[in-house]
Amino acid sequence: MKKNEKIIVTIEDIGVNGEGIGKVEGYTLFVKDAIIGDTVEAVITKPKKNYAYAKMIKIIESSKHRVPAKCAVARQCGGCQIQELSYEAQLNFKARKVYGNLERIGGFAPEFLDTVMEPICGMDEPFYYRNKAQFPIGTDKNGNIVTGFYAGRTHQIIPNMECTLGVPINQEILKIIVDFMQENHITAYDEEAQRGLVRHVLIRYGFKTKEIMVCLVLNGDNLPHSEKLVDKLVRIEGMTSITYSINRENTNVIMGKEIRVLWGQSYITDYIGDVKYQISPLSFYQVNPAQTEKLYGLALDYAQLTGEETVWDLYCGIGTISLFLAQKAKKVYGVEIVPQAIDDARNNAKINGMKNVEFFVGKAEEVLPEYYAEYERKHGTKAYADVIVVDPPRKGCEETLLDTMVKMQPKRIVYVSCDSATLARDLKYLCENGYELKKVKPVDQFPMTTHVEVATLLQRMDS
Ligand code: SAH
Repeated sequence: MKKNEKIIVTIEDIGVNGEGIGKVEGYTLFVKDAIIGDTVEAVITKPKKNYAYAKMIKIIESSKHRVPAKCAVARQCGGCQIQELSYEAQLNFKARKVYGNLERIGGFAPEFLDTVMEPICGMDEPFYYRNKAQFPIGTDKNGNIVTGFYAGRTHQIIPNMECTLGVPINQEILKIIVDFMQENHITAYDEEAQRGLVRHVLIRYGFKTKEIMVCLVLNGDNLPHSEKLVDKLVRIEGMTSITYSINRENTNVIMGKEIRVLWGQSYITDYIGDVKYQISPLSFYQVNPAQTEKLYGLALDYAQLTGEETVWDLYCGIGTISLFLAQKAKKVYGVEIVPQAIDDARNNAKINGMKNVEFFVGKAEEVLPEYYAEYERKHGTKAYADVIVVDPPRKGCEETLLDTMVKMQPKRIVYVSCDSATLARDLKYLCENGYELKKVKPVDQFPMTTHVEVATLLQRMDS
């Protein structure tokens, strides 16, 4: 196919970035904004040998799963990818994606998958679920201060304060900040010229505690007239922390390393289940706490703890799963590569009075094998774990790690994943090395996007 050629295509699947996928004479087309079930007219924009990118011109026959986007700028924004697909169809698509990867990459038979796979866990209200938002601040061509989001793959700000994934209070906060900047002639940062003061606004909200944090990211070390801004912001119920972060670098990284308090505390507190977390502007924290509670609750169920177990939580981040497990285990060891996350994990263990957790900084694929070798040298016996939980990033686990896990012979392995393709690859390895897949349950942590998380349980065959 050639550039600018027009074609008619029926969409059958969704790509990683939310684009519709359809086939014409064996040739694969990726069509932005088209959804499963649509028949569309599209124009080829980028032809390759076996596939092409195309732009939708018009919908010829609309999918029965098509719904109007809740957000007026859903198509321009890079944040949501599948708002025009009904939520039910989104969940179906995600469950099928997991199933398909386990079958194709994992080599599990459909008859078997039908016995272990549980229905996907969705949200009752799939909007307004994010507890964190980072809004860029800029200036429009008339010199007005604007905020919104970057148009997909650009740094051009599309004005919009009404993101339907974020909490509604964001709008009120942004309006106060924009008005304050306008009235006090505070400049917005201009990326190209590397001039101007306010770069971003970070807002975090504790769903359980209703505490609010506002952090302005500045290209400078102070905010003129800040008392006027604080005076307005503190009137918002729940306001707990007002800070700014200094970032003078010419970089895509949003936050600077230094944080200064303008008013209140330097952190907010929130809960997942009964576990308390202190969250500072730089802390990692799961963005959908309601679904995180379900996903990690599932991991805890799968672990089947009685209080006697030794458990490892690999890729533990700020220790969310570790602390969940520690409520019911004898001892939990957490391993994480980012030192600051481990500082948070240790602090969170402390504020919850949990003494049966220990954290290690390092790569899981190095820390666990070294621990295993060292244990054998010291004690003459093999290190043992009752349960091992892993929650790796998208690339999954390295084989050296899977190998050590198998050697430690845990009765159960709980694998939590954000990428079902690498999950399938790793499950295949574990199932070829003494484990049996018992349960698989997808959880929708990010409605309106193509992401899907999965909790799985494996059991040692001879246990
Ligand atoms: N369960 C965690 C989040 C897991 S996300 C929580 O709730 O906080 C995956 C984590 O793996 C991230 O924190 C990332 O920093 C960490 N990570 C990435 N590569 C790693 C590696 N090789 N070894 C250990 N941790 C790693």
